[in-house]
Amino acid sequence: MDEKTPTRVEMDKIVSLCRRRGFIFQSSEIYGGLQSTWDYGPLGVELKRNVKEAWWQEMITRRDDTVGLDTSILMHPQVWQASGHVAGFSDPLVECKSCHLRYHADEVGSATCPACGGELTEPHQFNLMFKTFMGPVEDAAAVVYLRPETAQGIFVNFQNVLTTTRKKLPFGIGQIGKSFRNEITTGNFIFRSREFEQMEMEYFVKPETADKWFEYWVGERLDFYKRIGIRPENLRLRCHEKAELAFYSRGTSDIEYYFPHGWAELEGIANRGSYDLEQHARCGGKNFEYFDDETKERYLPYIIEPSAGVDRTVLAVLCDAYAEEPDKDEIRAVLHLHPRLAPYKVAVLPLSRKEPLVKLAREVHNTVRRLWRSEYDDAQSIGRRYRRQDEIGTPFCVTVDFQSLEDKQVTIRERDTMNQIRIPVAELESTLSAKLGGEAFASTALWHTVG
Ligand code: ATP
Repeated sequence: MDEKTPTRVEMDKIVSLCRRRGFIFQSSEIYGGLQSTWDYGPLGVELKRNVKEAWWQEMITRRDDTVGLDTSILMHPQVWQASGHVAGFSDPLVECKSCHLRYHADEVGSATCPACGGELTEPHQFNLMFKTFMGPVEDAAAVVYLRPETAQGIFVNFQNVLTTTRKKLPFGIGQIGKSFRNEITTGNFIFRSREFEQMEMEYFVKPETADKWFEYWVGERLDFYKRIGIRPENLRLRCHEKAELAFYSRGTSDIEYYFPHGWAELEGIANRGSYDLEQHARCGGKNFEYFDDETKERYLPYIIEPSAGVDRTVLAVLCDAYAEEPDKDEIRAVLHLHPRLAPYKVAVLPLSRKEPLVKLAREVHNTVRRLWRSEYDDAQSIGRRYRRQDEIGTPFCVTVDFQSLEDKQVTIRERDTMNQIRIPVAELESTLSAKLGGEAFASTALWHTVG
């Protein structure tokens, strides 16, 4: 996709940074952890929110042809009958007859158990939906599922949204939310977990125009990842072969990222045809046909679906931003995060914990925090504080020193270049705004000036 060679970091470095600095912890860690579930710490939650905010801004806020939605995780069980998930949302599973370990059938090349060499069973289909019971009775009539995708909540609300917003085709409905899959094999940190978040857009179009819109969304979504700072050489498109397509799909392309474990799916863009609306119309006894005012035709719209993972985007962004660079006689670890995504945009670092310097530093922080997520950091030596801010991806540090008391000036240090400039406190807001705000913030320019 790009002339530059893709690069990757070791997963261990990312996992350790996330643990050490408070991005991501293993869930229920004090009880030994619950496999493949993760907790986002104070920095991780900011990064994740910024990823979701970037998606929402570009997919909903800045467009005329889309609206947002937030549907419940628990839905009527018939939804999953109609969608095909009860019958078909499964993976082939094999079990070792001796040690009873279970594997995804595609994962084991031979007929013997990779752990103990025992004989494996024939593959059987294992449904990936989590089941639970609604109400106080635990019987078959009370079964409900935790949704395995957010998309179905959108399809079943198609008419509600259409009539309340008076939208005309083509138009889209987007949603961000949790999904659950009882994956047979998990791993690679937050890449594949059993509880994760999706950012999905269902874009409804006139059938004849579906191919054009599919191409449009593939391009748009690829650009999105570049706009949030991911290096183009670490992204590629993979078109699904016919045999690989989901049964409803008329075409699917994956946007893949060069993760530490190799090229893997970040987002899938599918042409779902009219399958979903047809199914819900039939099973729910509703007419989902769209009446086209201009041509006076009635038809079931086709759906183009760009479906992305929040957690996979967070992982891609972290891997892509991570660098180890020479700094004087040492090596500094730095996250070259796009400022849009950085957990903290600015850190205010006072050189002393004593008055009157603290008063001035607090005033400076109060100015900054009104506009940007920021941190007041007065622990440890200034060198160590810079290291920490570099490692958590803070684009700018503002240092308040003793001279600041005399000349009312502070120093701004840039994360990527480590350049320092001294400016009057009165100009701090406008200087940082120019660097962080408006155009620069939404800019398509990449932030990889270093590394
Ligand atoms: P895979 O082939 O990797 O299992 P998928 O093709 O089943 O993924 P989709 O059903 O297309 O995934 O879901 C859309 C997006 O949701 C994926 O591109 C991915 O970013 C995210 N996603 C799906 N399953 C998981 C999971 N178990 N953990 C984290 N993210 C996931």
